[in-house]
Amino acid sequence: MRTALERRARLLGPHMTTFYDTPVHVARGEGVWLWDTDGRKYLDCYNNVPHVGHCNPRVVEAIATQAAQLNTHTRYVHDLILDYGEALTSKFDHDLESLLMVCSGSEANDVALRMAQAMTGNTGIIGTDDTYHGNTSAVSQLNSSKTPVGGYLPHVRQVPAPDNMAPLGGDRTKQAEAFAQDVEQAVAKLQASGHGISALILCPYFANEGFPTLERGFLDRAIGAVRNAGGLIIADEVQPGFGRIGSHWWGHERLGFAPDIVTLGKPMGNGHPVAAVVTRHDILTCFQEAFRYFNTFGGNPVSAAAAMAVFQVIEDDNLVGNAADVGEYTLNLLRQVQSHRDVIADVRGAGLFMGVELWRDGAPATALCARMVNEMRERGVLLHSVGRHDNTLKLRPPCVFSRENADQLADVMDQALSVVT
Ligand code: PMP
Repeated sequence: MRTALERRARLLGPHMTTFYDTPVHVARGEGVWLWDTDGRKYLDCYNNVPHVGHCNPRVVEAIATQAAQLNTHTRYVHDLILDYGEALTSKFDHDLESLLMVCSGSEANDVALRMAQAMTGNTGIIGTDDTYHGNTSAVSQLNSSKTPVGGYLPHVRQVPAPDNMAPLGGDRTKQAEAFAQDVEQAVAKLQASGHGISALILCPYFANEGFPTLERGFLDRAIGAVRNAGGLIIADEVQPGFGRIGSHWWGHERLGFAPDIVTLGKPMGNGHPVAAVVTRHDILTCFQEAFRYFNTFGGNPVSAAAAMAVFQVIEDDNLVGNAADVGEYTLNLLRQVQSHRDVIADVRGAGLFMGVELWRDGAPATALCARMVNEMRERGVLLHSVGRHDNTLKLRPPCVFSRENADQLADVMDQALSVVT
C-alpha cells in the first residue's frame, strides 16, 4: 500500500485526493461490495457511479459484446446512439427531446453553458455557492472550493445555496424567498454590467451543498426571475438523476420545475465514461449553428451500449422502486439511531440519497464527522461527508442496495458513533 501511495503521489501529483486516512486499495467490486488487495470486503454506501451495482453482468456483457463488434468515432451513422436517445428522452415528460452525448459531467455542463449563451445571446451565469459542476475552464468558474487562477470572471455570479441548518432554520418559505431575492439581485447586476443572463445552473437536489430538505416549488420564484429576464434553467442531474431519489427519475421532477437543459453523467454508464446533455430541439439546433462542435468519443457505440444496458437494468430490475423502498427503510433505521444519539441533528434524504448531519454543543461537528468517516471505513462500511461545514455523512450507495445492507450500515454507524463521541 505504501509503495502504491508513493507511486501515486509521484505519478499523479501530490494533491490527487483519496478518501480516508488509510485509503482503500481496491482490487475488485460486485454489486454493493468492494474488496481491497488484502481480500477485505467493504459495503459501498457512497459510490453513485456503479449505479446498477459494481461490475453488473449485463453492463459488462454489453460493453464486451459491442467492443468485440465495433467501436469508433461518432461521424458514422449507428443505431445504438439513436436507440439510446429515444429511450432516455422518453423519461422526460416535457419537451426535452434531443440530446448530445459527451464523456463527462464537466463536458456536459460546459456544453450546457454554451447552449444557453447561444440561445439567449447573453453570457451571464448564476450558480449556487459551495457547489461543484466540473473541471473545464468555464465550469471551474462555478466552483467555490478554490478560486480560479485570475479570480472569478465578472459574468459569473454565485448566490447562497439553501442550507438545511441555516440561521433561517426550518422555515423553508423564508429560505425560498431569500433564495429568490438573491437570484433577482444577481440577475439585476448581470443586466447592469451588460452581460445579461444566459442561465441559472443548479443541481436540483443540491447534492454537493448538503441536500437540504426542500418543498416542491421551492425554486419557482427564483426560476421565474431568470425566465423573465430571458435566461434559461440548467438542471445538473449528474448526482440525483437516473432514479436514485426513488420518487422520480430526475431531481427536477421532485421539485416540480421544467428545466430547459439537463446534464447527466456519473451513473449513466455504470463507470464507463459517458455523459449527456438533454435539451429542446430548438436549443440544440441553435447551439450547433453557433458553435462548431464535434466530440470524438461522445456516444460512440461502446458508450451507447453501456448506457443502454444501465437504462435497461434500471427498468427491468425496478431500481427506482428499490431506491424508494430501501431508501425509506434506511431512513427509518437511521432515525432510530438518531433517537439515542444526540450528536445526530438531522437525518434526511430521498430514495438512496441520504444525509446524517452531526452537530455538537450547538455547532457543526466537522472534526467528529471526519472521524466517523474513518471509523466506519475501519469497520468495513464506506461513506463520506458533505455540506457547507462538512458535517453531514453522505450516503449514496449503488441502487441495488438492500434492506440487509441497510441493517449493516445502521449497526456499524451506531457502533462507530459510540467510539468517536
Ligand atoms: N456536476 C456535479 C453535480 C458533480 O457532482 C460532478 C462531479 N462530482 C460533476 C458535475 C462533474 O462530473 P465529471 O467528474 O464526470 O466531470
